[in-house]
Amino acid sequence: MALRKIVEQGEDCLNKVCRPVTDFNRRLHTLMDDLLDTLSEAGGAGLAAPQVGILRRACVVMDDDTEEFIELINPTIVAQSGEQTGPEGCLSVPGKWGLVTRPDYVRVRAQDRDGNWFEAEGEGLTARCFCHELEHLDGHLYTEHIERFLTDEEVEEYFSKQEEGAG
Ligand code: ZN
Repeated sequence: MALRKIVEQGEDCLNKVCRPVTDFNRRLHTLMDDLLDTLSEAGGAGLAAPQVGILRRACVVMDDDTEEFIELINPTIVAQSGEQTGPEGCLSVPGKWGLVTRPDYVRVRAQDRDGNWFEAEGEGLTARCFCHELEHLDGHLYTEHIERFLTDEEVEEYFSKQEEGAG
């Protein structure tokens, strides 16, 4: 287990469509362990493989209800509903927050690190994080569809009421 360097906006690997994971081997397990370690250290809500320079469809998302990490490999969104607008940040865009509208409920289908298919669902911040991390796997950043960046004061005011959610 080890920490990996989180790449920042402007680096090519954040703009690529990632390839599916096909080998559920020890190398993948090491990647998933490193994503968990790196995310825990950074204190974010989610982290995708391309954010550490690996162009594979794998990410981790924190379930906002249980505060447990969900490992998602080859994930797709299979259902979504509702709408929420709120601040969103990204560990690859440090120090910035933007206002983004997302579905309020999202269900994903994915494989675990051993290749078993499962479904996971989330509301609120968890749903937002599913959307944010899955977009990373297609080379997109939340900054592409923000209404605007938030000022420091707005961010402070918002997070005095809620917990933060950087992915
Ligand atoms: Zn991100």
